[in-house]
Amino acid sequence: MCGIVGSISHSNVVPELLDGLSNIEYRGYDSAGISVQTEGGISTVKQTGKLQALRDLLSQQLISGHAGIGHTRWATHGEPNTRNAHPHTNDHVAVVHNGIIENHHELRQWLSAEGFIFQSQTDTEVIPHLISYYYSRCNDPDQALNQALERLQGPLP
Ligand code: GLU
Repeated sequence: MCGIVGSISHSNVVPELLDGLSNIEYRGYDSAGISVQTEGGISTVKQTGKLQALRDLLSQQLISGHAGIGHTRWATHGEPNTRNAHPHTNDHVAVVHNGIIENHHELRQWLSAEGFIFQSQTDTEVIPHLISYYYSRCNDPDQALNQALERLQGPLP
């Protein structure tokens, strides 16, 4: 279980997210990533290895936004690679998560049958798809989040 940071600001949050991840590097991790909200949607950059590898990638893939989240991962479900690094996203939702979703297998099967395409081997990826599933029915982000959380089983951190 590693680290999560988030920021909302009048200025670009990318440097702050990277500084935040840097402050929790001591916990250990196998990969790191950030997502920011942009006018066009969600931009995500993630990379295996040290935070410097993510910084190097971000110097080539410039992203910026006024709200964002970041994560350092310690893999429990799915090998430590870039695809499995967090955040996990779909068109409308980006999620970082520490811990384990115990019922991820049955949720993945059900969401796949509902038409969601999974990009990773992680337990975490069920979360953004669950939120989107409920959002498409209630059109209310808070309600969709709460309904999604009710479906998740696992130990509290
Ligand atoms: N279970 C998640 C994964 O394997 C979260 C790992 C973590 O806590 O960093 O991606």
